[in-house]
Amino acid sequence: MKPAPFDFVRPSTISEASEVLAESGGDGKVIAGGQSLMPMINFRLVKPSVLVDINGIPELSQIESKGDRLRLGATVRHYMTATDPLIHERIPILHEAMHYVAHLTVRNRGTFCGSVCHADPAAEMPMMTLLLNGQITARSVRGERQIAAPDFFQGSLMNSLEPEEFVTSIEIDTLSTDTGWAFEEFAKRHGDFALSCVATTMRMRDGKASDVRFAMMGVGETPLRLGSVEALIEGREVTPGLASEVVELLNDTLQPNSDLHASADYRRHLSGALARRALDAAWRRAGGLTEHAR
Ligand code: FAD
Repeated sequence: MKPAPFDFVRPSTISEASEVLAESGGDGKVIAGGQSLMPMINFRLVKPSVLVDINGIPELSQIESKGDRLRLGATVRHYMTATDPLIHERIPILHEAMHYVAHLTVRNRGTFCGSVCHADPAAEMPMMTLLLNGQITARSVRGERQIAAPDFFQGSLMNSLEPEEFVTSIEIDTLSTDTGWAFEEFAKRHGDFALSCVATTMRMRDGKASDVRFAMMGVGETPLRLGSVEALIEGREVTPGLASEVVELLNDTLQPNSDLHASADYRRHLSGALARRALDAAWRRAGGLTEHAR
């Protein structure tokens, strides 16, 4: 199909972009990489009156270190995140996750912030933003506002931005070098959206897990940060027995959808298998003994 007619604006400053969005009265749409937006426009699922291309705003294209956090500008592309040495060194789980995002050609154009704004519940970067305590900076003619990641994801393809707001950057945690981590995803083909995915990090203190984070995607209307699972693991040794307790909790907690890709039961079962693998790998990376080494 062909898109409905729209105006196209390519501002060179953040203020200019904010003004165009305000003037559009809520009908304007920001385009970053266009990898999700253009198919939706071509299918006329969205019909913006004006497309605001933010790729001409130089300050949005940076990855910056801010103490123990990293800030990713709104036009930082997936391939930049995948190849950035700071990310490789300080957030290895994000480096790993990037390999699961689509294909090279999509990663060359698609952006980290665009993926978060798109808020697909089976996309990797929204889940990573939750896992890494992301803070989203939104801008409009009224000024700037910070949104914590748990408040940003409102439902499938729904975020908490006001119609005339846009994201200028997202800040995420880096990980201390003693952090164990694991990213376990299953999709039918490499580059497809996940049927289920687990991302977890933990440290080891006196032989027990501490600072545990546990996030999932593909199994709900939004990416999930599972505080109940984190609380179950925190302060305990990660053993196969504990992993079984986690699987049981996931069975009771997760409410995945059935669709043409997989049934809800299959997704729940898969989630348990991925959780076991992820806990074992993260614990090993944190310096813990795994079942094989006991
Ligand atoms: P765009 O397409 O430009 O925008 C997407 C939406 O976000 C639009 O509504 C737009 O208005 C809004 N938006 C973008 N930037 C901003 C901003 N700064 N402020 C406010 N709103 C904004 N993704 C995955 O995570 N995993 C996959 O496995 C995967 N597979 C894919 C396979 C294919 C074949 C394709 C085409 C895409 C796939 N994607 C996948 C999606 C891809 O990662 C997209 O790049 C990403 O979802 C959107 O990023 P974008 O920069 O292209 O955003």
